Amino acid sequence: MTTALEAIDLGKRYRRTWALQSCSLEIPAGRIAALIGPNGAGKTTLLNLAVGLLTPTAGEVRVFGAAPADDPAALSRIGYVAQDKPLYRGFTVAEMLRFGAKLNPRWDDELARARLGRLNIPLGQKVNKLSGGQQSQVALVLALAKRPELIVLDEPVAALDPLARREFLQVLMDATVETGMTVLLSSHLVGELERVCDYLVILNAGRVQFAGDLETFAEGHRLLVGLRAAPEEVARVHHVIHSTNTDRQTSLLVKSNGQGYDPRWDVRDPGFEEIVLAYLARREEAVETTR
Ligand code: ATP
Repeated sequence: MTTALEAIDLGKRYRRTWALQSCSLEIPAGRIAALIGPNGAGKTTLLNLAVGLLTPTAGEVRVFGAAPADDPAALSRIGYVAQDKPLYRGFTVAEMLRFGAKLNPRWDDELARARLGRLNIPLGQKVNKLSGGQQSQVALVLALAKRPELIVLDEPVAALDPLARREFLQVLMDATVETGMTVLLSSHLVGELERVCDYLVILNAGRVQFAGDLETFAEGHRLLVGLRAAPEEVARVHHVIHSTNTDRQTSLLVKSNGQGYDPRWDVRDPGFEEIVLAYLARREEAVETTR
């Protein structure tokens, strides 16, 4: 198995706050990986480390075996679509293509023009006259035309309507099938990610909560609902991810260790989104250091 992106005990500190800490993960090549986490979890920080825009405070990050911040050759293998669509807004789409061709030795102009044609985006149009959704599509096409082996996208579909979102993700999936590239994509749209991705990274308060196959993620999780009770008894046996209480009822989302449950609990299998939300709801304080 080739590893596209590897983080080894990776950390990034801004002044006294660790935005990312002890992050270790390995994304196999050819996967579409979802990066999920609440606001401020460290997603953009991780992505910026992956594309060499930031250097680690601790540990290391490698893309196809090379540290992106130290190795310009590694950068030519990575495409990046930042959160704030990095387009030169006064340029026409055609000018953006010429610009991309000049900067990137592996530029595929035919691919870019074909995709823009399919999306009915006029080449003569100034980028700032395109809709937000069209701008996102252009940013994606420019990143794909670079023919990257890893494409990193920071909340690329946030501004898109549901139809445009579906088209955007379809273009991304088609490109992955055609080229075998690896995708790392952050988003808050959990349901959509479940449909598109096959690898999952959950970050919360700068720490990895889960990194692995999306298929195996749900395994062992159970939702326990019962009359209001303290979760300690369950927590002695199983791993309680999150608990919620109403006046009368307690719900526990647990990762089972295989042992049974007290029959007073009503036990069921939670859905993907329910499990993800339980991990996101474990709000821990950002880790501070006194150093
Ligand atoms: P969002 O979903 O809101 O985009 P995120 O998961 O991408 O959030 P980051 O932008 O990586 O989170 O931020 C992680 C933490 O690091 C936050 O606490 C944030 O305030 C802090 N942070 C990010 N950039 C800087 C910076 N340049 N200087 C200081 N602190 C920063």
